[in-house]
Amino acid sequence: MQYMPEPFKIKMVEPIRITTRQEREGFIRDANYNTFALTAADVYIDLQTDSGTGAMSDSQWAAVMRGDESYSGGRSYYRLMDAGKDIFGYEYLQPVHQGRAAEKILFPLLVTTPGQYVISNMFFDTTRAHVGLAGGRAVDCVCPQGMDSSTYFDFKGNMDVPKLETLITEYGAENVAAIVMTITNNSVGGQPVSMENMRETARVAHQNGITVVIDAARYAENAYFIKEREAGYEDASPIEITREMFSYADVFTMSAKKDALVNMGGLVAVREDQVLSDAIKTSCIAFEGYLSYGGLSGRDLEAMATGLYEGLDPDFLRYRIGQMQYLAARLTEYDIPFQNPVGGHAVFVDAGKMLPHIPWYEFPGQALAIELYVEAGIRSCDIGSYLMDRDPVTREQLQAPFEFTRLAVPRRVYTQAHLDVVAEALKAVKDRAADVQGYVITWEPKVLRHFTSHLKPVG
Ligand SMILES: *Cc1c(COP(=O)(O)O)cnc(C)c1O
Repeated sequence: MQYMPEPFKIKMVEPIRITTRQEREGFIRDANYNTFALTAADVYIDLQTDSGTGAMSDSQWAAVMRGDESYSGGRSYYRLMDAGKDIFGYEYLQPVHQGRAAEKILFPLLVTTPGQYVISNMFFDTTRAHVGLAGGRAVDCVCPQGMDSSTYFDFKGNMDVPKLETLITEYGAENVAAIVMTITNNSVGGQPVSMENMRETARVAHQNGITVVIDAARYAENAYFIKEREAGYEDASPIEITREMFSYADVFTMSAKKDALVNMGGLVAVREDQVLSDAIKTSCIAFEGYLSYGGLSGRDLEAMATGLYEGLDPDFLRYRIGQMQYLAARLTEYDIPFQNPVGGHAVFVDAGKMLPHIPWYEFPGQALAIELYVEAGIRSCDIGSYLMDRDPVTREQLQAPFEFTRLAVPRRVYTQAHLDVVAEALKAVKDRAADVQGYVITWEPKVLRHFTSHLKPVG
């Protein structure tokens, strides 16, 4: 498969350090085999996350200089409002400092009775946490194809609509506080949701008087997949598709650190509900700051207003998704198993299949992440049983449905040659797979252990 050439040229460079295998063996040992504990300077290609790691354009940097730092009613705030209204068609937009700040503000306003359910095509971890903190119960309801890593399906991120209807009947509509559509569906591999599924989900929700929320981090990548794969949208532009997608929901939260191409920022927005908008304003002032800056500098608002449009540029999206598809094609060539088809922001390599001799409780996803670092200085992360953690009550280690190693690709940062290094490193690890060891945890905190725990190789 041919690489989709970049629709930009490079104006500024950031040197990255090339280390030796021997040095890397020392660095990862000193980090207690936890990739989060590595110093970024010791990483050659950093695929830990696509969140806040993208490169801003010259227009965005120019926008930074135009930022209006007035405390209230700044020009940059109004530019962001205009962009948000134009793209999403929502009456009220509130900037916040990142996605989880939007969740922290919104969910306590939706979950009005403790124990109410919130149902999603699949929650992202911070979204799930904020539903819980608000007293709600988060329930995942992804379509069955989303859980089958080897079989191709165009829209693996979809909601399982028949199951959603069953759940609403079972719980009672009054006990369902909201339905959250995550686009793209991050937790199953950045997989898209179809327009038809968005429309059907909203129909079921609204028939039952339930609020529809979009978790909108990757709105543009999702729009591009609809254009490419869904009948009737071939000739629609990503911005037109986005407007239709958002017309089916009532509220959205967004981490702007992904498709909006900024290093920090977020939004919470309401289509027309005045009561909810007023409640959001009150919470925002308490948690994030005054309405016209919401925890961000004026220059951040200005860069976000520009980034919201750049993320939707068809040439950019063709290159972005093309880059992911190129990497996937290289892995297919080397017979490396991954969540198929590749998603919009990451390749989820099936480490369980690649390292079948490592049992799930010795964390194949983490073992592969460590080997990729030692092999070529590539940083990735485990999305498997290591991340899954223990049962909060019994403290028993839980088994994840998959043992993935996630390679998340930052936007506008790495070139074809970098992706070739990644593919070849995976091939090299595959060739010596039988010698790769599993890991055990030697120290771990009570919650969210993957960030800080210590590990060592088995045996
Ligand atoms: C990143 C992300 C969030 C949280 O956003 P932050 O900006 O990291 O706080 C929420 N939902 C999804 C789908 C995300 O990808």
